[in-house]
Amino acid sequence: MQTTPAVKITEAEWEIMRVIWTNQPATSRFITEVLSEQMNWKSATVKTLIGRLVEKGFVSTKKQGKKYLYSAMISEEDSINALATDVFEHICATKVGATLANQIEQATLSRDDIQLIEDILQKKKEQAVEKIFCDCLPGQCQCHNSYMKENENEKRIVRH
Ligand SMILES: [Zn+2]
Repeated sequence: MQTTPAVKITEAEWEIMRVIWTNQPATSRFITEVLSEQMNWKSATVKTLIGRLVEKGFVSTKKQGKKYLYSAMISEEDSINALATDVFEHICATKVGATLANQIEQATLSRDDIQLIEDILQKKKEQAVEKIFCDCLPGQCQCHNSYMKENENEKRIVRH
């Protein structure tokens, strides 16, 4: 089983993966039944999406009589984490904390969830750094704006 998917999963493929993770091994007919109403997908659409997932190595195929059975080759937990990590890799390092806080504020959480987060935060407090440094490209985040204004005459862009 792969730990993190190196190839991206599209939103449509993600919906298929969720059905397979929950009901594997699953037939394309079953997957279509689950998704047809809400997604308005025909059997051909589902088959195309499954085919792409097989090509990407995320789903395995096993023939049983006339039917094909599909199973996940990547774990749900790893894939969810990879998806979230992907989001945070595309924002400025200085905005990660505030974004996480915002996500927590908006999420509906159980007491157990909150306990889990509190335990992690307690550990994080011990390893906390004084300042987070931006590692964005100049021109891709506000951190560089003051610098760029100061050096406007030189028209030079320097990473800090
Ligand atoms: Zn930045």
